[in-house]
Amino acid sequence: MPKKKAAVIGAGLVGATAAFTMLMNNTADELVLIDVNRDKAEGDALDMNHGMSFLPPVKLTSGWYEHCRDAALIVLTAGAAQKPGESRMDLLGRNLRVFDDVLSNLLPNLAPNALLLTVTNPVDVLTQYVLERSGLPPSRVMGSGTVLDTSRLKWAIAEHIGLDSRDVKTFVIGEHGDTAVAAFSATAVSGMRLDEYCAQCPQPGCDALTRLSELHREVRGAAYDVIAKKGATHYAVALAVNRVAEAALNDQKAVLTVSGLIEGAYGIKDVCLSLPRVVGAGGMERLLEVPYSKEELAALRHSAEVIREAYRGGVTRREAPDIGTFL
Ligand code: NAD
Repeated sequence: MPKKKAAVIGAGLVGATAAFTMLMNNTADELVLIDVNRDKAEGDALDMNHGMSFLPPVKLTSGWYEHCRDAALIVLTAGAAQKPGESRMDLLGRNLRVFDDVLSNLLPNLAPNALLLTVTNPVDVLTQYVLERSGLPPSRVMGSGTVLDTSRLKWAIAEHIGLDSRDVKTFVIGEHGDTAVAAFSATAVSGMRLDEYCAQCPQPGCDALTRLSELHREVRGAAYDVIAKKGATHYAVALAVNRVAEAALNDQKAVLTVSGLIEGAYGIKDVCLSLPRVVGAGGMERLLEVPYSKEELAALRHSAEVIREAYRGGVTRREAPDIGTFL
């Protein structure tokens, strides 16, 4: 399966680290970095190109929106990041203005079947904004959603029970934010339910089963902790972006908790949030309706309402942006 071109818009900590991760993993044949701070994008492209002799060849450049015309995947990371104490939703007003600028440049320059992957926060609300502004089919407008949160939860459980994170199967669903839901009813370790695994656990005194809610609370607060310590999160999200990019560019049919429009699953409609979906060359090709517990479904519906209200308050009720729509 041929790899393709990806564009990363926003060459800040997240965008540059995502591009570097894609470069290291040979995820795309061609990568272009775009940032309103053109020097930053150019400097990052040069810096990465200087290491190209250590890597399989990738055409890596900095550029502008006309360089998106042949890109199969556009990764949107432009915009303000959380400062200590800020929630993701606090960024909405600022990042809507950034997205107005980005989309007015990007949409006239999209390839016919391009996939969009929003990473900028609040990612679910902005994914829905991109969907509405672009008029693209919902399957092609993804958000990185809870792909990162799912990885954090796998790691937290794996650390606790002393196994490789890749042997833990679980999902974080709903909002990539304060109402994210851990789907413990769908959690398994190498094919066994967590309680079955724990019954055989050789670790004396392991209390993973009783600590699940606590582990999830820690995961939900993980970004706040990292931001308080070092000002930003960018490595793990870059790996999450790379995972979605390789699934899409290589048509891997990988099950990932990307954010996208929900059109009736579990009685939820017209809101973007994360549920496990099959990601391939067509973007989000299918949604998997996992049988979650009653409590998880109630929490998922609450998460949907929080996103919907943020969209209504932040997007629908704001003054119309002074730019046209794409269609
Ligand atoms: P950053 O400040 O390091 O970088 C942002 C970049 O966006 C800057 O280089 C800036 O010049 C650029 N930019 C701003 N306005 C622009 C415009 N109009 N056009 C083009 N480029 C523009 O921030 P960061 O740490 O890279 O974070 C970026 C976003 O990613 C934030 O919203 C952050 O909250 C989000 N994030 C998401 C996740 C996730 O899992 N979804 C994880 C971490 C961070």
